[in-house]
Amino acid sequence: MNYSNGAAKGVVLVTGGSGFIASHIIDSLLDDGFKVVATARSNEKGRIIVESATPARRSNLSYVVVRDVAEENAFDTAFTQEITFDYVVHTASPYHLNVQDPVEDFLDPAIKGTTGILKSVLTYAPTVKRVAITSSSAAIINPLNHAKVYDETCWAPWTLEDVKDPNKAYVVSKTLSEKAAWAFIETEKPNFDLVVINCTYTFGPVQRNLPSLEGMNASNHRIRDMLQGKMKEDMPSTAPVFTFVDVRDVARAHLRAITVPEAGGNRFYIVGGHFSNKRIVDSIRKWYPKFEGLLPPENAPDDFSDGVYTFNNSKSVKVLGLEYTSLEKSVKDTVESILDLRPDIGNLKKAI
Ligand code: NDP
Repeated sequence: MNYSNGAAKGVVLVTGGSGFIASHIIDSLLDDGFKVVATARSNEKGRIIVESATPARRSNLSYVVVRDVAEENAFDTAFTQEITFDYVVHTASPYHLNVQDPVEDFLDPAIKGTTGILKSVLTYAPTVKRVAITSSSAAIINPLNHAKVYDETCWAPWTLEDVKDPNKAYVVSKTLSEKAAWAFIETEKPNFDLVVINCTYTFGPVQRNLPSLEGMNASNHRIRDMLQGKMKEDMPSTAPVFTFVDVRDVARAHLRAITVPEAGGNRFYIVGGHFSNKRIVDSIRKWYPKFEGLLPPENAPDDFSDGVYTFNNSKSVKVLGLEYTSLEKSVKDTVESILDLRPDIGNLKKAI
């Protein structure tokens, strides 16, 4: 495969290629005519990323191994191969619920990974025109004192001090890594510009290469758990996040982050609407009645209230041209993808 001359639209390095969001970004980029090099933590994961792509997409997809984004110079090998990159999309960052050491498990890969890739682009990839980074609504929302309406001007309040509470490891990692990215641009004034995608809680079809339900991305867990009957007796509170977005909209946001010239230098709050656990259950019940015996009862209370914060996503609509997917469609398609992976999940005996 020759990447040296690029493709009609260019060559993109996508970090964290095995991930849920990255898998959809890769599909979007390939469908739009880009060539993609995905980073993977091992050759095995890299091979799976390429092999699970549809044949039409596969010929424009390859991988490079980046074992740990927290390591010093982790990305240098990606940029010292004979590939001329035009864009970088950096998604790799830990997002899971298993916090052992907040600094080692979350802060280091998030912050060092972000500054590390920017440094490597600056040093080795002068052809890169733009870097898009997947931040999060976690870098926008202030649960200690909610704004009435959130938009891109809002910043979460987290500082290093906050990781003393391990439950805050993820939100601190996303806030500080995004701040580090903007500070890098301010200080280094590189030839490339930066776009940041602050997506909120993301649902949507699981990636084709998912080995098992256990390996599923954290934000789809609640839908999986509902299908497994784990919320039948006791539906947990939806808080703290009441906003969702479909992963295909998140992927389009990244695609447009690199293709829309005016996007440069901006952060975008990518949010499709409000949700609650009850609203998800209602959508599952409507489209997949066979799960009735596993779901919370129809009259279970909805913890969504008028007091829940709201959002303004007009910048993403205007600049990136996004049209957001409804919760109902997102849930319906997520369940369909889970059924593709585990057709027996609706079977009461086997599923629980
Ligand atoms: P996944 O867990 O599916 O993907 C995370 C990716 O990052 C995986 O490819 C993982 O590799 C890689 N990764 C994690 N740590 C390291 C490391 N130390 N070195 C190298 N690679 C690493 O999560 P999502 O797809 O959900 O998340 C992707 C991005 O989107 C993250 O930045 C996350 O913060 C952000 N985001 C996610 C939201 C959501 O609701 N899902 C909402 C807002 C933002 P491996 O699989 O090999 O461990």
